[in-house]
Amino acid sequence: MIIDAETKLVGLIGHPVSHSFSPFIHNTAFEIIGLNYKYITFDVLPEHLKDALKGIIALGIKGVNVTIPHKEIVIENLDNVSPEARIIGAVNTIVNENGILSGYNTDVYGFTESLKKYKEIISNTPVFIFGAGGSARAVIYSLITNFQPERIVIANRNTSRAEGLVRYFSQVLGYKDFEVKEFFFPEIAGDIKSSRLVVNTTPIGMHPNINDLPVKTNEIFHEGQIVYDLVYNPPMTKFLKLAQSKGAEVISGIEMLILQASKSFELWTGKEMPIAEVKKFLLQKLKSRKRKNDT
Ligand code: NAP
Repeated sequence: MIIDAETKLVGLIGHPVSHSFSPFIHNTAFEIIGLNYKYITFDVLPEHLKDALKGIIALGIKGVNVTIPHKEIVIENLDNVSPEARIIGAVNTIVNENGILSGYNTDVYGFTESLKKYKEIISNTPVFIFGAGGSARAVIYSLITNFQPERIVIANRNTSRAEGLVRYFSQVLGYKDFEVKEFFFPEIAGDIKSSRLVVNTTPIGMHPNINDLPVKTNEIFHEGQIVYDLVYNPPMTKFLKLAQSKGAEVISGIEMLILQASKSFELWTGKEMPIAEVKKFLLQKLKSRKRKNDT
C-alpha cells in the first residue's frame, strides 16, 4: 500500500528494536485487509522516553508497542493503565486517543486466548513454569485469573526472584498455592511429570542457541500433557520436539506472539487482525530465514 497524506502511523518503542517481528506482523495485516496504516520501529534510549511519548502525541501517532527497557517505567508516564498491566507492572501497548495515552498488556490476552480451548483440562490441575521474568508475570496472572490451577510450581535460576514474584501475586491476587524450586535436575523432574501444563518462559532454546534445553530428559513428558514454549524463534523448539516425541500436546510461542499482536492491532485500529493469514506469512518468513542460515 502506498504511503499518502492519509496514512496513519503505529510502531514500536524500545532499545534495541532491530530484531522485532512486530513490523512484519502488523504491516502484513494492514496489507491483507487494505488498511492505510504503517508500523515502524523507534529505537528510544531510556533518557528519551518522556520526549518520545510527547512526540507520539505531537505527531498524532495512533499507538505503539513497548519493549525492553521501557515496559515497566513507562507506566508512570501514562494517563490510563489497564488493571492487568498495572498488576503485572508492565505495558506492552499504548493507545493515543486525542492526546490521552492509555497503556495495556496484551501478552495476557495472547497467552489466555492461546490456551482457551484447554481451559477444562487445565483447571484444578498442577502447572509447572520455567522462569520468573517479565513474561512469567503475564503467564501467572493469566493462569490465576482465567484457569484456576490447583498449584503453580516455578523453577528459576534465581530463586529469590521467583519468591518475590510469588509473594507479590499471593498478595495482589490472593492465590496461595505456589511452590518455588531451584532449576535443577533431577530434583524438578517429578514436578514436571505430574503437571498437566508445562510452560517455558525462559529464552532457553531461542535462536541462535537452538540446541539449548530447559530439561535434561524427555522421560518427564507424556500423553495428556500440554507443553507450551514462549520462545517463537524457532517456532518449533527442541523443547517442544522432545515433549511431542512422548505424546504431549505442544504449543509454540508463535501463537501467543500473534494473538498479543492481534489485540494491539484491534486497540489501535478497531479492526480484527486476519490472524490465520498473518501466521501463515510469518511462518513462511521464518522458514526462509532458516533455509538461508542453513546454507
Ligand atoms: P526476562 O524478563 O529476561 O526473564 C527471563 C527468565 O528466564 C528469568 O527468569 C531468567 O532467570 C530465566 N533465564 C534466562 N536465561 C536462563 C538460562 N540460561 N538458564 C536458566 N534460566 C534462564 O525475559 P522475558 O521477557 O520473560 O522473556 C523470556 C522469553 O519469552 C524470551 O525468549 C521472549 O522472546 C519470550 N517471550 C515470548 C512472547 C510471545 O508472545 N511468544 C512474549 C513474551 C516473551 P533468572 O531470574 O535466574 O535470571
